[in-house]
Amino acid sequence: MASYTTQDIRNITLVGHAGAGKTTLAERLLLKTDTIDRMGTIEDGNTVCDFESEEKEHGHSLSTAIIHFEYNNHRFNVIDTPGYPGFIGQSVASLAAAETACIVVDADKGIEDLTRKMMANAKKENNGRAILINKIDHHPEKLEELVESLQKTFGKECIPFNLPLAGGESVAKCFPEPSSEKTLFGSPEDANNVVVEQSVEVDDELMEKYLEEGEVTQDEMIRAFGKSMCDSHLVPIFFVSAKNGAGATEFLDAVAEFFPAPGATKCTRFKLDGEDWGGETDADKPFVGHVFRVTTDAFVGKLAAIRVHQGKLSSGDTVHLDDIKKGIRIAHFFQLQGKDHIEVHEAIPGDIVAVAKIDDIHYDAVIHEGLACDSIATRGAILPKPMFGMAITAAKRGEEGKIFQSFQRLADEDPTFAIGRDPSTHETVIRGNSDMHLRVMLERLKNRYNLEVNTAPPRIAYKETVSNKADGHHRHKKQSGGAGQFGEVFLRIEPLPRDQKEKFEFADETFGGSVPKQFMPAIEKGVKQVLEEGCVAGYPMEYIKVIVYDGKHHAVDSKEIAFLTAGKKAFSDAVRKARPVLLEPIVEMEITAPQEYMGDITGDISGRRGRIQGSDMLPGGLCVVNAVAPLGEVMTYANSLKAMTQGTGSYSMEYSHDDPTPANVQAEVVASYKPKADDD
Ligand code: GDP
Repeated sequence: MASYTTQDIRNITLVGHAGAGKTTLAERLLLKTDTIDRMGTIEDGNTVCDFESEEKEHGHSLSTAIIHFEYNNHRFNVIDTPGYPGFIGQSVASLAAAETACIVVDADKGIEDLTRKMMANAKKENNGRAILINKIDHHPEKLEELVESLQKTFGKECIPFNLPLAGGESVAKCFPEPSSEKTLFGSPEDANNVVVEQSVEVDDELMEKYLEEGEVTQDEMIRAFGKSMCDSHLVPIFFVSAKNGAGATEFLDAVAEFFPAPGATKCTRFKLDGEDWGGETDADKPFVGHVFRVTTDAFVGKLAAIRVHQGKLSSGDTVHLDDIKKGIRIAHFFQLQGKDHIEVHEAIPGDIVAVAKIDDIHYDAVIHEGLACDSIATRGAILPKPMFGMAITAAKRGEEGKIFQSFQRLADEDPTFAIGRDPSTHETVIRGNSDMHLRVMLERLKNRYNLEVNTAPPRIAYKETVSNKADGHHRHKKQSGGAGQFGEVFLRIEPLPRDQKEKFEFADETFGGSVPKQFMPAIEKGVKQVLEEGCVAGYPMEYIKVIVYDGKHHAVDSKEIAFLTAGKKAFSDAVRKARPVLLEPIVEMEITAPQEYMGDITGDISGRRGRIQGSDMLPGGLCVVNAVAPLGEVMTYANSLKAMTQGTGSYSMEYSHDDPTPANVQAEVVASYKPKADDD
């Protein structure tokens, strides 16, 4: 039996840019709560949260780690997430497992790419949010300016909850009782007033009382504070130093006393019987949990971390995975402490536990007990579509199958990593969010499965389409020895609008039995063969309507194969006359760098056939540039940006749409195409 109740649980995620100090902070919290007796460091590679060999090598978190501890009669689960932009998928996926997202900001570097992205993502997921300004020991003189930047960027609801003392060695509490210590800037009393005034705004009655009487009781205040956090009306700012421990106790106290407990924030992840399910936490209802992380453990194999939402899970229970009717018996499950698993026998709403060895388990799966199996679904986190590609081939012959399978296992762990055969280019391509993301995957393939691949930039997945209407005709006649083949097809093609869902339409407008109905599927099959293989450059064709309007048949010699060939050739004939065009993938880019590089960045993007869509100056001397550009022109942008900005710039990109290529690019691609020999 758990020694705590759901109301005693505090689930928080540590998110934010790489290097801000999330892992060190997790280590500090473990030390502060006497869970460990010596603090590991990133430099020594012996922290509880960074245990993977690749993490130790890179000196940064590359996967989500989960720890737990007890503090002040509360049960804490802390999820430490990776902060490289390429690994953002795992950070976003973790948000739905916790009530509060703690966005960790490096006091030296200020607002970075992932600070902004995770502030926005946590709001979308309905998380309560807190900002932790870490490394206050380093340059305490910059802290006041950073608070101003945070308020300018994220709104006046970002309010200091404690204030640093000179030297960044400790902090003064501002809430609920302000301290009288002399702080580096501002005063705890003023800060307390701002927190109170902001909090009471979420409750009309309380607001009235505050305005009339000038104060409210501490209990009322605490309740209003919690509600303001859940409503995103208040984002408390904490000053901490993971290194010297300043602010750690004050942060733990605040989480235990004021942060939302399970059920307080609105969970928008599930639909039960088609209705939104708000994340109830009733322990007596049937068990519901969701998987937010899958890893492969050296000892237990596939290990899935589950957030329990409602009901209890006990050892030996039979549960269901998604809509699979067959039940799964959960013989053992665990609480996680970094790489260690501690077996437990019961989990209550709000708990985070891990189950091993369930083959079909995957990221975002719903695990439940006793619910009608077709009544539950998750919305899934809104994740960036992976756009960085690498074409791979096995380094040793015969290992292709093993490599594909192993990459698929790695994809189970990371919702923004994928492997597939590209039908346009016939290459096997791995995709992720950045060059570094893919390089880490190659390291994992080698370390875990002892497999290696050769890599190359993938061919661009062009598509073919047509820009005009045109007619096509082919008469297929073969008379060789015995039975002959005969089929004649007249068809018309026209382009379909590129914003419609259907990318191919086929219509039969023949009359008078010129082409017997039974041959129509053969004609369509012939057309589809050309659609798949392409006509002018060897890429699949899209957005085309085909109308067969006439033809001829022969009572004896007309066969399916004859009409298939006639359909194929008539279609190719029409495409060549319909001004074929090549479409190329266009990506949306967001580039962040110090302001002095803005001119270079915009000029470079224009030189890559890109279009600047907007730019913004950010507090702290940064600028952000939004642009769209053809994927083919920005495949190696990581290296160029690094060189252009002395390694200070970062960017992300997402697929946007396909656009026609300029004539010179099309001519080049078409010229390099070697069509297969004609089979007629
Ligand atoms: P993460 O990528 O956000 O998990 O950041 P890490 O915990 O890996 O820390 C990145 C670097 O910052 C490491 O070298 C840490 O030793 C250092 N660091 C973390 N917290 C502090 C701090 O409070 N003060 C100082 N001066 N350095 C810190």
